[in-house]
Amino acid sequence: MLVRRYFEKLRSMKIRNRAIRVSIALSLTMFLQQFAFETLENLSYDMRLRFKSTSPVSGHLQTIAIDQITVRELRRSPNARDHIQFLKVLSNEQPRAIVYLIHPKELVGSYEELQEFADLAAGLNNLYVVSEKVNLSGEAGRLEMLPPFSNIKVAIGPKLNDESGVVRRMLMSFEGRPAIHPLLSAQINGIYTDVGVRGVIKSGDQNEALIDFHPAGTYRSLSFSDILVGKISQGQIANKIVVVGRDTEGSNKDYVQTPYSSEQMGMTLLELHANMFDTAIQNRAVIPLPAWLNFFVTYLISILIVYVVLALKPVYGLGILVGTIAAFVILSLLSFAIFNIAVGMAHPLLAAFMCYYFLIPYRLIVENRRSWEYYQRNKILSQVEELKSNFLSMMSHDIKTPLARIQGMVDVIRRDIQPLGDQQTRALDSINQSANDLTHFISSLLDVGRVESQGINLHKSSKDINSLLGEVVEKLEYLAREKNVEIVTEFEPMFSVKLDVELMKQVFSNLIENAIKYSKPDSKILLTTDEVEGHIVVQISDQGYGIAEDDLSNIFMKFYRSKEAKTSKIKGTGVGLYLAKYFVELHNGKIDVESKLNQGSTFTVNLPMDL
Ligand code: ADP
Repeated sequence: MLVRRYFEKLRSMKIRNRAIRVSIALSLTMFLQQFAFETLENLSYDMRLRFKSTSPVSGHLQTIAIDQITVRELRRSPNARDHIQFLKVLSNEQPRAIVYLIHPKELVGSYEELQEFADLAAGLNNLYVVSEKVNLSGEAGRLEMLPPFSNIKVAIGPKLNDESGVVRRMLMSFEGRPAIHPLLSAQINGIYTDVGVRGVIKSGDQNEALIDFHPAGTYRSLSFSDILVGKISQGQIANKIVVVGRDTEGSNKDYVQTPYSSEQMGMTLLELHANMFDTAIQNRAVIPLPAWLNFFVTYLISILIVYVVLALKPVYGLGILVGTIAAFVILSLLSFAIFNIAVGMAHPLLAAFMCYYFLIPYRLIVENRRSWEYYQRNKILSQVEELKSNFLSMMSHDIKTPLARIQGMVDVIRRDIQPLGDQQTRALDSINQSANDLTHFISSLLDVGRVESQGINLHKSSKDINSLLGEVVEKLEYLAREKNVEIVTEFEPMFSVKLDVELMKQVFSNLIENAIKYSKPDSKILLTTDEVEGHIVVQISDQGYGIAEDDLSNIFMKFYRSKEAKTSKIKGTGVGLYLAKYFVELHNGKIDVESKLNQGSTFTVNLPMDL
């Protein structure tokens, strides 16, 4: 009944503990979810991007830069006339599209020249000017430039940078209108924006995607001046999307910061657009892990760490924390490197750290309280133990005198009152026997008390173990005879060793007396001595009742008696083996027992020769 209630309590405690852990993890996860931790997330994102080997380029792009060579050759920036010439040469090469990152209004030239440029550009049905602006400015939502450029096609293609200026995302569409990149790439891969495009992130009115970046320098630009003079190799332009921009290092506007480099001029705007085109053409936008999945991963890690901190040993806890974080980081790196999937790392990592560092102090407090309680309980226990010992020794002393008087009186009656009837003689024998038993018991108690309070000084003298055992056997022979138990001795001849003869006699007396006491009538006891590697080994084997397995480890404890012994008629105090072990260990020896219930026991005493 009690046991069942105990287990029920234990189970309900376990369930309660589990519920507490799950809710701690859930609350922490929900709390963390309130914050975006953008800096940390971006940091981990950029780190993964840098670790990743870059994917091959599509080959559908060619960038053309108004670079320092161009400026040196022309001795100035290209003007409207140069652009007219440029467009003529370029269109002859039949590119798939010409994407101008330079706004025509920046061109220098007379109105006629600008007009001529505008007509030429508008006439090319594959030329687009990229606008940073996405808002409607013309009729029917069409982006328009002012005259004379109002007929040139304008497409949206802003660079999306975060607060620190780093570009990670590209615009896919604004209010349903595709940006230039998906717009043109659809001609190649047939995938129109928002349909079948991987990794689309909705953000208000616009759809965005994470760019599958290549490091700066991947896309090699042709020089504007080379095109002007027709220096173009075969197939360099034909059927490609040609992006035209500036790379003169004259203005920050022509450059962007990328995850690879937080420098202001980390990459040309030209190359950024090439990256964006390639992401759209190859449909390789990085897919961010959905928020719910991220929440789930954070939650799982939190539960694991909470469990580890509250239930495991601190060393394992730290090991599992480090292992979990390492496994998570490796999996995140792999999923990014292989599948272009970006697992949010900030929340799970912060959850792991917070669970660990918030709960460790809590655990310390709990453990501190437990060890304090343990200490208090121990203190009380040792006080109780001391009280018990004091009481026992006081009681033993006080009983000893009346007991001696009883025995004396029995002797007086036996001697002086004659003749005694049969019943009277039996009564006197019984009184005498009981008094003897009680004296024996009291002496054991006093022995224990003395040993524990004063300790023992060994009085060593030289003695041959075999003869010591012989004396003990002789003294106990009568007991064995009463039960018809035969004591067989097999002694190996041995040198004398130095030991405390009285104590060792007490040890072997107890062991042999036990062997007789717990033997079955008409059985044998084998007593052997041997010398093994500088040790004397004495074994006492009986064919008695034996000791149950769960009692074996306890029989050397003070006052311990096995269940069988307690329920049998065999008298005992449970002190003999305790003292025997104590005395043997004082001689730097060891005492062991092997036993099988109902088959017998073997006690082995092992003493070093050079005591
Ligand atoms: P006791 O006075 O009860 O014999 P001991 O300390 O000598 O006390 O022994 C402790 C207990 O070990 C005994 O009560 C008994 O249960 C068990 N025991 C000791 N020796 C033997 C043996 N030879 N055979 C079976 N049980 C034994």
